[in-house]
Amino acid sequence: MKLAEIKTAVMAGETVHWASDAYVVIYAPRIEQFLIKCLLNDHCIGLTWKDGVTMNGKPSQFFVPFQKGSKPVTPRSRAKQRGTFIKCPRCEHIGCINHFSWSALTCQGCKQMVDKYDWQQEA
Ligand SMILES: [Zn+2]
Repeated sequence: MKLAEIKTAVMAGETVHWASDAYVVIYAPRIEQFLIKCLLNDHCIGLTWKDGVTMNGKPSQFFVPFQKGSKPVTPRSRAKQRGTFIKCPRCEHIGCINHFSWSALTCQGCKQMVDKYDWQQEA
């Protein structure tokens, strides 16, 4: 994603990730800056350098999960290196997995056990 696309998506309320599910781009109105926030430790760095143009990450590393829609998990599904996002068919909660070596997962949203092939993955 280009810088302008990232900013537009964040302001539209979409969740833009950088590199994995652990990092999201946020807008901090008090300092009027876009930041990359680590969800594991709440640490933030600027989305760009002080020049306001050079991004702290490659454009290809920024993404909005499910931007291209979703498709069912199949026996041939393979996880992406950055982690694959999956969506609960019951409550649409989004989680992230690093492999498909499981037969069912408990959704963190509705706490229901969902069979592997009932989950939706990124298209
Ligand atoms: Zn759910």
